[in-house]
Amino acid sequence: MHRAGFVNIFGKPNAGKSTLLNALLGEKLAIVSPKVQTTRHRITGVLTEKDYQIVFSDTPGIIDPKYKLHEKMMGAVKSALEDADVALLIMDARDNADECLELFASLKLKANSILVVNKMDTLEKPALEALLERCREWGKSKAVVPISAIQKKGLDTLLQTILQWLPEGEPFYPEDTLTDRSTRFFVAEIIREKIFHLFEEEIPYHTAVVVTQFQEKHTLTKISAEIIVTRETQKGIILGEKGKSIREIGSQARADIEKFLDRKVFLELHVKVRDKWRDNDNYLREYGLI
Ligand code: GDP
Ligand code: MG
Repeated sequence: MHRAGFVNIFGKPNAGKSTLLNALLGEKLAIVSPKVQTTRHRITGVLTEKDYQIVFSDTPGIIDPKYKLHEKMMGAVKSALEDADVALLIMDARDNADECLELFASLKLKANSILVVNKMDTLEKPALEALLERCREWGKSKAVVPISAIQKKGLDTLLQTILQWLPEGEPFYPEDTLTDRSTRFFVAEIIREKIFHLFEEEIPYHTAVVVTQFQEKHTLTKISAEIIVTRETQKGIILGEKGKSIREIGSQARADIEKFLDRKVFLELHVKVRDKWRDNDNYLREYGLI
């Protein structure tokens, strides 16, 4: 018997959704960051084994629709809710459990859900047991599964639990499909990840990355990308003194892109100021954010 279906991962920013997706798929698909809101897109990863195929989506964190961009993110969360066979509700073991459960309840899920308690490595056994007990009492999920995405613990149990709720059916995608996102997208995400790691709070949230050129040459891949910011001052910060910061972004990103593509890369970065791109549908569309 073959099972196939769609599994969406929900949870507050930083709960570990991207880490879990990466751990399950064994590839650096989604961007993992200690800061919040790095995942703007729905990223789909496909796990194909002999007896099953699971199509995963990592949704953006559940956040206030303060900006137009956030509204779009909430839209992505809701549309993901509607087309899942199984929803993984993922909670940080250190978060306030009641608040998390309330948030999950407010989603009014129709799909079967599995409550995943992540970061079990951060709690002592008695505290973890008490938390799991509280989660089981909640009763709105089909199962409660403790895991440590970072240590890859509990993942087999999680997969087995998912399979129990996955419908019988033929695979949706060819066997070697890992994701339906383009290489360009991942390249842009890698550059954005470096910006997240190198700059404080404000800057990354005002930044988008667009790959403008992607050319396979004989010995290397030539990539040009634009880093879009909203103000001149931000441009100055991204460039850094005598271009020091942008060179740092470039060299870190290039190293990761070379690993990802498994070939030499020539990377060219430009910074552009575009006022209010976050509130403009055309820009959002152009950047593939909606
Ligand atoms: P997302 O916003 O839900 O996608 O969260 P991320 O996957 O980006 O993870 C947020 C932070 O939590 C990162 O610093 C991860 O390294 C960390 N993290 C994720 N899973 C675990 C875990 O199982 N244990 C611990 N201790 N940290 C984790
Ligand atoms: Mg994420």
